[in-house]
Amino acid sequence: MIRIEHLSKNFGNLSVLRDISAEIEKGEVISIIGPSGSGKSTFLRCVNLLDRPTSGKISINGVNILDRHTDVARVRQKMNMVFQAFNLFTHLTVLENLTLAPVKLLGRSRQEAERKGHDLLRLIGLGEKSMSYPDELSGGQKQRVAIARCLAMEPEIILFDEPTSALDPTMVSEVLSVIRRLAKEGLTMLIVTHEMDFARDVSTRVFYLDEGTIYEQGTPGEIFDNPCKEKTKAFIRRQQSLYQRLFSADFDLYSLNAEVESFCSRHLVPLKSRHDLTLLIEEVLQLYCASSSSFPIDITVNYSEKTGQLELLLESPPGSANPLELQGEDYALGLSIIGNLLQDRKFTHSENRNILKLYLKNP
Ligand code: ADP
Ligand code: MG
Repeated sequence: MIRIEHLSKNFGNLSVLRDISAEIEKGEVISIIGPSGSGKSTFLRCVNLLDRPTSGKISINGVNILDRHTDVARVRQKMNMVFQAFNLFTHLTVLENLTLAPVKLLGRSRQEAERKGHDLLRLIGLGEKSMSYPDELSGGQKQRVAIARCLAMEPEIILFDEPTSALDPTMVSEVLSVIRRLAKEGLTMLIVTHEMDFARDVSTRVFYLDEGTIYEQGTPGEIFDNPCKEKTKAFIRRQQSLYQRLFSADFDLYSLNAEVESFCSRHLVPLKSRHDLTLLIEEVLQLYCASSSSFPIDITVNYSEKTGQLELLLESPPGSANPLELQGEDYALGLSIIGNLLQDRKFTHSENRNILKLYLKNP
C-alpha cells in the first residue's frame, strides 16, 4: 500500500533522513519509536507531503505522490494525520469541526456530513458533545475529536504523531483505546509514540529510528524483547525504567512524583502499586536525608509487565550508611511503613557506590 524508496530529507546542511526504504501493507499498524530528534516527525511529514523529501520515492497504491502532477489535497485526504497538539478549530462546535472538510473537500451534503459526524462522535464516546466547543473539553476529549475529524475524511491511512504526548497522564488511556479500536477495524496506521506498552500490543511492526534511518525493525516481540542492535537495546532499556538523579536534600519531590506518576501510567501499573511506590519513595528519601547520606542519589524504577514486580534502586556515593538501619524513635514509623510495603530488600556496597534495592510487594 505504501512504498518508500531511498527517502532522504535534509534541512540545509542537516541530514535528517538518510536513504530510508520501507513497504507497508494494507491493515498494518506500524509504531515508530526512537530518541527525540531522530527524525520521526520529519518521516511522517514527508510521507504526508507536509515536508518535501530531498530525494527518494513514495508511492501509495502504486501512485507516485512526489510527482509534480499529483493532487496533494487528494493524497492528504487518503492519508490523514493526527497531531500532538489537536489543532481543532476553536470557534467551531465539535460537530462543525467534523463536517467542515467533508462538505468543502469531499462535496458531501451538510445533512450527510452531520449524520456521519454524529456516528463518529458516538464511536469515540463523545456522542453528547456535538454542540460543545473544543475549549469546553478536556485534552483527552479534544484529541478524540481530532481523531474523529480525521476519520470524517474517510482516509485509508492515518498517521499519528505522538497523539498522547500533550496529554495529562490520566487522559492517555482514553485516546489509546480509540486508536486500538481503529487498529482492530483494520485501518492502516503509522504511529509515532512513546507509549511502549501500547506500541507493543497494537502494532504489527515496530520501526526504531536512529541515525536518520530505520536502524532496526521487527515485530513488537523482536524489538521490545530481543532487539539485535546496540542502540536499540540501549533505547529499550531506557524506556523500561525511570531514572532520576537527586543532587541535594532540597530536591523537587513534586516533580519526582509527577515523573513516577507518568512512568506508571505509561506502563499501566495498577493504582494500588502506584500509591505504594510513591509512598515508598517518599519514606525512603526522608530516611536518606535524615541519615545525612551524601548526594547525588540516583533513583531507578523498574517495572516488569510480565510479573508485575516494581523495583526501586537507590544508588548513593560510597561510605553512606544503609538508611533502613537507622536507629531511634524518630525513624520507627517510617521504617515500619517501608517494611510493610516491601517483599524483599538488598543493600550492597562497593568502592564506587552503595546500592539499596527494594522490591515492592505485589498486590
Ligand atoms: P523527532 O520527531 O524524532 O523528535 P524531528 O523529525 O522533529 O525529530 O526532527 C529531526 C531533526 O530535524 C531535528 O534535529 C530537528 O531540529 C530537525 N528539524 C526538524 N524540522 C526542521 C525544520 N523545519 N527546519 C530545520 N530543522 C528541522
Ligand atoms: Mg517529533
